[in-house]
Amino acid sequence: MGTIETTVVNGLELANELRDEMAQQISEIVAAGGRAPCLAVVLVGDDPASRSYIKGKQRACGRIGMDSREHLLPADTSQTNLLDLIKDLNADDGVDGILVQLPLPDAIDPDAVAEAIDPAKDVDALHPTTAGRLLRGNAELISCTPLGVMAVLEKCGVEIEGARAVVIGRSNIVGKPVSILLQQANATVTLCHSRTKDLAAVCREADILVAATGRPRMVKADWIKPGAAVMDVGVTEVDGKLVGDVDFDAAQGIAKYITPSRRGIGPMTITMLLRNTLVAYRSRPSGRARTAS
Ligand code: NDP
Repeated sequence: MGTIETTVVNGLELANELRDEMAQQISEIVAAGGRAPCLAVVLVGDDPASRSYIKGKQRACGRIGMDSREHLLPADTSQTNLLDLIKDLNADDGVDGILVQLPLPDAIDPDAVAEAIDPAKDVDALHPTTAGRLLRGNAELISCTPLGVMAVLEKCGVEIEGARAVVIGRSNIVGKPVSILLQQANATVTLCHSRTKDLAAVCREADILVAATGRPRMVKADWIKPGAAVMDVGVTEVDGKLVGDVDFDAAQGIAKYITPSRRGIGPMTITMLLRNTLVAYRSRPSGRARTAS
C-alpha cells in the first residue's frame, strides 16, 4: 500500500455544478423570450439498456430546462427510414442537437447514420466533419466522454501542460478524441491499444492515465505512477456490479486522483451532451429566438 492520499473524484457533484450553470443560462434565455434548446433522441429497437440511457439523457435535459424529443423506431426499421428521420430533424429549426443511440441493429450502417447528421447538430460528435475539426483544433462540438475527462482534470487542478499522458483504448468516441484533447492541452501523449507491448511499463510513466478499454480491473496497482491522476472511463458489469478498467481498491494510496466506476466519468458524459446541445443552439442563429409554440 502506498502513502499518497488518494482523492476519489465525485463526478456527480461536478456534473451537478455544471448543470446548475447551464440551467441558469437556459432560464435567462427563456426569460428573454427565446425558446429553450432542444435535443432530439432517436432509438432504434427496444434494448432495455439503451432505453434506460435515453431516459436518463431526457431526464437530464428536463432538469436544466432543456427540451427533448424522443423518436422510438422499431427494431426492423430500415436504414432509409432512419436516414429520412435524420433529414427531417436536420431541417427542423426547433431541434438543436440530434443523438442517435448506439448500438444500432446490424442491418443499419452506423457510419451512414453518423454522416447523415448535420454537423451543426452533431452533439454526440460522430460525423467525420466533427472529428476533422477536433483534429484541427477548431471544434465546437466534441465527444462527450473525452470532454468530461478534461473537465474532471481541470476541476482537480491537474497540471496537463508538459505532463506525460497515457490513454489506453483507441475508439473513435473515447480513446482517440481524449488523446487529441490532451495533446492540444500540451501533454505528451501515448495512445495504447490491444497490441501495445509492455503496456504496464508504458502506463507507469503516466502522470495522467486514461483507461478506456472495457476490460475490468485490467490496470493493476504497479501500473500506476505514484501521484498520477487516473481517469477510469471503462464500465463493465461483473456479477451485477459496475467495475472499471482500473483495480480501484489497489490504486488507493498510489494515485493522487481516481474516478470511480459509479459517479465518476458517467455523469460528466451526460453533462457534456447537454453542454454540446447548448453550444449547438447558440451557434445556430436560425430558430434560436423563436418562442416555443
Ligand atoms: P471500444 O470497445 O470501442 O474500444 C476499446 C479499446 O480498448 C480498443 O481500442 C482496444 O484496442 C482497447 N483494448 C481492449 N483490450 C485491451 C487490452 N487488453 N490492452 C490494451 N488495450 C485494450 O470501447 P469504447 O471506447 O467505446 O469504451 C471503452 C470503455 O468505456 C467501455 O467499458 C465503455 O462501456 C466505457 N464507456 C464509458 C462511458 C462513460 O460515460 N463512463 C462512455 C463511453 C464508453 P484495439 O483497438 O487494439 O482493439
